[in-house]
Amino acid sequence: MPIYNFSAGPAVLPKEVLQQAAAEMLDWQGSGMSVMEMSHRGKEFMSILAAAQQDFRALFAVPDNYKLLFMQGGAIAENAIVPLNLLGRGGRAQPATSDYINTGSWSTKSLKEARRYGNVNVAASSEDSHFAQIPDRDSWQLSKDPAYVHLCTNETIDGVEYQFTPDVAAETNNAPLVADMSSHILSRVVDVSKYGVIYGGAQKNIGPAGLTLVVVREDLLGPGYALPACPSAFNWKIVADNDSMYNTPPTYAIYIAGLVFQWLKKQGGVAAMEQRNIAKAALLYDCLDASDFYRTKIASSCRSRMNVPFFLADDALNDAFLSGAKERGLLQLKGHKSVGGMRASIYNAMPLEGVQALVAYLQEFEKQRG
Ligand code: PMP
Repeated sequence: MPIYNFSAGPAVLPKEVLQQAAAEMLDWQGSGMSVMEMSHRGKEFMSILAAAQQDFRALFAVPDNYKLLFMQGGAIAENAIVPLNLLGRGGRAQPATSDYINTGSWSTKSLKEARRYGNVNVAASSEDSHFAQIPDRDSWQLSKDPAYVHLCTNETIDGVEYQFTPDVAAETNNAPLVADMSSHILSRVVDVSKYGVIYGGAQKNIGPAGLTLVVVREDLLGPGYALPACPSAFNWKIVADNDSMYNTPPTYAIYIAGLVFQWLKKQGGVAAMEQRNIAKAALLYDCLDASDFYRTKIASSCRSRMNVPFFLADDALNDAFLSGAKERGLLQLKGHKSVGGMRASIYNAMPLEGVQALVAYLQEFEKQRG
């Protein structure tokens, strides 16, 4: 029986990648060493790093005036690292102000962390509607000159995803847009040039936990932009100047991420993957929409293609639903504890067959219990 893993993260990885990693586990390409055992400054690992950097830049279409950083600490650490690196932009007096768009659990966490370092203006929030939609762009109350504007472009827990790239430059004196893309990076084509900073943890669409990717426009690494208290290992300028080797990078996670990038190239790249993701999400949402037995709560204009929370009309059936799913090899469908119900995460590495198997089970369970 095939197993399909719907975990929100750490999440399913392409089987071919795991097979290659298994084959190379004890001896990477005749080096006599596991990647885990290599010096990060040796020629073997340097070649792995260079290929991963080059492939990511090509896949994500990163313009030349952006640095790609491989860091640690995950997106939660970046919630602090972002203000620590940007609040001094342009020599502004401290405490400086940054703007946040609150669209769910992860942006709430980001803005709470930012309050430790400066003033936060919550320019828009959908909290009143239980994060069922992205606040209308016309309603955003942006500051005139914030250090930056932060958003989370895919809310992993709530299941909302921006289907547009907001342009905030005119109202904010060209403040850079900073985006947490942890849970949909490389799942769709992004115009990187519209952003100042893009960051994300690797453990959804990219690889194992432990690696954080940061894409930052070079002009945002200016002198004095980082606050004096910013730890050196988290200072983007220092990390960039050392080509992500200021401290020992998470070597094995970078190696696996590199294999995922090679796999993604073989799949046709991000644009091809986006088409597949659109088809997978449509299949699942169409099934949920066609039934009164299942419910979704997110406005259709901003439903996530990656994370699909749904609810059984009768909560009392949740345990039976989950155990029946497990018997059919459909794993980790339980919703986040703060939202309840179910959640299917259908990242790049989830094949269409996995979503088809889930849809077949949804229909069968409804027939039996509906
Ligand atoms: N932001 C988003 C959108 C996430 O999905 C997650 C992890 N689920 C985080 C931040 C936090 O990531 P980490 O635990 O790796 O710091």
